[in-house]
Amino acid sequence: MTVRTRYAPSPTGVPHVGNIRTALFSYLLARRLGGQFILRLEDTDRARLVPDSIPKISESLQWLGLDYDEGPDIGGPYGPYTQSERLDQYQAAARRLIEQGDAYDCWCSSERLDAVRAEHQRLKQPPQYDRRCREDAGQAQAKREAEAEGRSPVVRFKTPREGTVTLEDPIHGSTPFDVATIDDFVMLKSDGFPTYHLAYIVDDDAMKITHVIRGDEWIPSAPRHLLIYGALGIEPPVLAHAPRILGPDGAKLSKRHGATSVFEYRDEGYLPEALFNFLGLIGWSLDDKTEIISKAEFIEHFSLERIVRNPAIFNAEKLQWMNGVYIREVIPEPDLVTMFVDRLEADFPPEIPRPIDRQLVAHVVPLIKERVKLLSEVPAYCDFFFTDNLSWSKEELLGKAYAGRPADAKAALGAVATSAVDVTWTHDDIEAALRSLADKLGAKAGDLFSLVRVAVTGKRVTPPLFESMEILGRERCLERLSQAASLVS
Ligand code: GLU
Repeated sequence: MTVRTRYAPSPTGVPHVGNIRTALFSYLLARRLGGQFILRLEDTDRARLVPDSIPKISESLQWLGLDYDEGPDIGGPYGPYTQSERLDQYQAAARRLIEQGDAYDCWCSSERLDAVRAEHQRLKQPPQYDRRCREDAGQAQAKREAEAEGRSPVVRFKTPREGTVTLEDPIHGSTPFDVATIDDFVMLKSDGFPTYHLAYIVDDDAMKITHVIRGDEWIPSAPRHLLIYGALGIEPPVLAHAPRILGPDGAKLSKRHGATSVFEYRDEGYLPEALFNFLGLIGWSLDDKTEIISKAEFIEHFSLERIVRNPAIFNAEKLQWMNGVYIREVIPEPDLVTMFVDRLEADFPPEIPRPIDRQLVAHVVPLIKERVKLLSEVPAYCDFFFTDNLSWSKEELLGKAYAGRPADAKAALGAVATSAVDVTWTHDDIEAALRSLADKLGAKAGDLFSLVRVAVTGKRVTPPLFESMEILGRERCLERLSQAASLVS
């Protein structure tokens, strides 16, 4: 048997990280077991459809590295992979269930259904359809009314009045449900579109899906699904319900807790590799302690059995830490150079000339990768390597140490320039020269270094000064020292 898993989002908005996490688990299971991972669009809720979100779904999967083997944009042997293009299949399944006595047309008006619901509420009973159309007489009357008003029927499942169905879930174990509490639920709406319950079952069967990993909010619907599987004579796939993701306050993860879309994380400067790692550990663990796990290791070790049952917390600080680890230690330097170049190309102001010098970035990366956690911090941290237009003010240059002493600052900058003329241009020698100069001037080394730092970089917080000066080169440093000297005087 070939393992086939799927990610089946409803295109109702920008993909949410919680939702993508189930995609990630489905992807990992398929790759672990040498199977296929499929993308299917569940666009049957026409009222909530956001057409713009469709391309964003594939884009977010691709960005995260969740390549799929079949899908709406790439096709495959079991297409179409968009539910609105498969209506005939759901309608055929519903007809079959009607013919075999497991479903029926319900012609009741929405006003009547509202009244029934209100009555159930008044009697403090669970709000259920009263099954009028389940009986021939009631159905005939409702049909006459509906036809007079030009309304079409829905198809409801004829839920048995007693019995038990049992959900066997590799994560949650075995859960029996009493079917007597289950409504005669709608499978096909009056516009001919199916509800989720019918649609996904028909599709998973047609697409030979072997394992469904979905959020645990679907557990309460699972007994209905088991009834449909039974009536259609379909052997259910493995149904695994992954724990929901909560914010640190214990509420369902939402905008309130910060970014929720994959694109927001991308734009804030998270690496797809780090987000992959982070999401893979929300509700799953390798051994309860290992935090940094590569995609290859996830694929090698992933198993449904290690998915936990309890809700999992989304810890944004941990994600930021993890992103820093990926930048510092995990991503090979040539790849990091490419990421930095892309970021600088995109984020530098237009005054900074393009294309960005890749060679220069390669020199800068080792200096700054230790110090940034997000790619979005990179441009402001290293712009002075890429432009000679520094915008310091006199106050910034003087700083605390030289405040009110512009003449001393000017003399110090001049002395630095003089000693820079014939020092060997390596960071060690530059540092040694400036230390002995500080001695000579009777200045604190730290004060002198700050002055030089602002003079050559335009800012107070920078990558290591002497390494930066080495990369900038003697000429550019001398030019900046002289400009700074004339600014303070
Ligand atoms: N369309 C459903 C959703 O987005 C899919 C659930 C499932 O994976 O079956 O929640």
